[in-house]
Amino acid sequence: MSTDCIFCKIVTNAVPAKKIYEDDDVIAFHDIRPLARIHFLIVPKQHIETLKECQPAHQALLGKMLLLAAKLAEEQGLVGYKTQINVGREGGQEVFHLHLHVFGGGPVA
Ligand code: AMP
Ligand code: ZN
Repeated sequence: MSTDCIFCKIVTNAVPAKKIYEDDDVIAFHDIRPLARIHFLIVPKQHIETLKECQPAHQALLGKMLLLAAKLAEEQGLVGYKTQINVGREGGQEVFHLHLHVFGGGPVA
């Protein structure tokens, strides 16, 4: 837990989010500034800053996030979709708590 991290605050319910999934390891919620009709984020509960910090010990967690992307995309009615992880400021990352984007359903209305 990092006290000034917006995603840690969503994990602890200190900041509200439109959650679509939660278990002991991860949460998923709709992006507040969607770039597609459906745009949600899959976030580990553990505060890991970027994909670069991930170690072999995180392999199961990373695999779980990808499999969950497919499951939740289907639940959201998406037939096809894109997934993305921005890594580092130079990679377009703005929130420094690891997250996987899922986009689908065409442009925002
Ligand atoms: P990234 O550029 O990969 O770090 O993406 C961070 C994403 O988090 C952006 O798409 C933001 O719109 C999204 N975001 C930031 N704050 C919130 C929030 N409070 N609830 C939901 N999504 C958020
Ligand atoms: Zn965090």
